[in-house]
Amino acid sequence: MSKNTPKAIRGTQDIFGADAEAFAFVVETFERVRRLYRFRRIEMPVFEKTEVFARSLGETTDVVSKEMYSFEDRGGDSLTLRPEFTAGIARAYLTNGWQQHAPLKAATHGPLFRYERPQKGRYRQFHQIDAEIIGAVEPQADVELLAMADQLLKELGIEGVTLHLNTLGDGTSREAWRAALIEYFSAVKDQLSEDSQQRLEKNPLRILDSKDGRDKPFLADAPKIDDFLSDEARAFFKAVTDGLDAAGVKWVRAEALVRGLDYYRHTAFEFIPDEGSAAAEALGAQSTVLGGGRYDGLMESLGGPATPAVGWAAGIERLAMLVGKREIFDRAKLVIVPDTGNVEELAWYYTSQLRASGLSVEIAYSGKAKKRIDKARRTDPDAIFFVRERGHAEGNEYLRQGAHMSVIAMDELAEKVGTILGVGKIDWSR
Ligand code: ATP
Ligand code: MG
Repeated sequence: MSKNTPKAIRGTQDIFGADAEAFAFVVETFERVRRLYRFRRIEMPVFEKTEVFARSLGETTDVVSKEMYSFEDRGGDSLTLRPEFTAGIARAYLTNGWQQHAPLKAATHGPLFRYERPQKGRYRQFHQIDAEIIGAVEPQADVELLAMADQLLKELGIEGVTLHLNTLGDGTSREAWRAALIEYFSAVKDQLSEDSQQRLEKNPLRILDSKDGRDKPFLADAPKIDDFLSDEARAFFKAVTDGLDAAGVKWVRAEALVRGLDYYRHTAFEFIPDEGSAAAEALGAQSTVLGGGRYDGLMESLGGPATPAVGWAAGIERLAMLVGKREIFDRAKLVIVPDTGNVEELAWYYTSQLRASGLSVEIAYSGKAKKRIDKARRTDPDAIFFVRERGHAEGNEYLRQGAHMSVIAMDELAEKVGTILGVGKIDWSR
């Protein structure tokens, strides 16, 4: 690399090889599972007006106050690269009249941008999969969404990750709890971290989330939401947990779990690696894999009608780290090796027929014959098919595993290839 070559932006990644395969596996599995649960695919813009995020997430949140990539465009509008999906989806729901599809089950994935200190599992451009149910007031929506998350993790083969579940109550419960927290933490204000002293003014719930050693001694005895829940909020939470039990989703209660953003109500949850598990080992300090909750207040903060909604997002990179190294590709079933330039057209004919019939085929056309053969062997396919010039000592074409052939008709090839690969006779007619 010359000194002159520009470097990548700090906190961005160029993902390749086994990491890229793990990434793709996460996305493909998500796509499959969201279809099982009948979530509709949506595609969202990567940037929005800054106010979409500022108003939805709350000015005092870390994301809005410290982490957004905001800029003025040439027309003088303040725009922001999306730091999360939910606010933009809420905006789209209102501006497109998606109310007509309510309850709308929607899923998407793609890049997000946050100005954070890059470290393992934490980037400035990262990627999420995201699922939302908008316009459903029923706790069953929370159950469905959580069951989907749980099944996704299972289908990804991720073990040792548990659903931590809490309720933040409805607006009234949350306010009463908040007041009690302010009173409790105010009494020890001087001993709290600077961050938490600030949170005390702006969002005391978030002190419970603190990882600072100075705050920790006070967290265990802090007031609990359960003492402030209204009857409705309590019934709602019970319906969620009963539903999860019935659906076979394991969960633990996490009374101190509050999500970072202002818009959450009722259910809040995170999937977190169990202490000492391989998953915890793999992720280090960046432990939350998937997080979300109910955000009944969000649409109103964007000027829309009160709209109940619940959703989650998961970092694709963090999931990919738990999935582990995946084989670079599915191995090619078959490599076709034309010996010389003279038989390349014939080789292309076979290759395209086989690919059209749904077989994964590699054609080796780089370098001289020996290099082509070496490359084919390294791919470790089930079979190598040499296309040779007439008169070659080893016959015109043959398949590695024993079957020598002279010039063969497509039909015969179809049968031989099919038998050797164990897929039955290949159907050319498609
Ligand atoms: P954290 O507590 O790790 O900062 P968060 O609460 O900010 O996470 P959310 O906004 O809930 O995260 O995003 C959901 C998921 O997206 C996280 O659980 C994580 O898997 C992933 N994620 C969030 N920020 C980053 C980042 N900077 N780099 C990589 N993944 C991230
Ligand atoms: Mg964060």
